[in-house]
Amino acid sequence: MCFADHDPGQPVMCQCCGKRPANQKHHRWPQRAWVRKLYAREIDDPRNIQFVCAACHVGHHAGSKLERWDEIRFCKELGIEPRSKGGQEQWQRMKSK
Ligand SMILES: [Zn+2]
Ligand SMILES: [Zn+2]
Ligand SMILES: [Zn+2]
Repeated sequence: MCFADHDPGQPVMCQCCGKRPANQKHHRWPQRAWVRKLYAREIDDPRNIQFVCAACHVGHHAGSKLERWDEIRFCKELGIEPRSKGGQEQWQRMKSK
């Protein structure tokens, strides 16, 4: 799950429905424990975050505009190289094509 902390100072509207104030952060690439370990500084990068309301965030409802990235997509968007073993192998395979 990627429920983030409530941020009362956040004035933006939900980037999914656009109707309610956003008070949660959706991580495009979910912040699992190993991800946090490998990408401690990058995981909360604004490029990986969508601000959403709680109603939209619950269960990532069907048809929502919440994006789901994998490690490769995440690294491409941030201009970094994968740090997990699997990610590095996939990166090499993509390069050698
Ligand atoms: Zn919403
Ligand atoms: Zn989420
Ligand atoms: Zn929504």
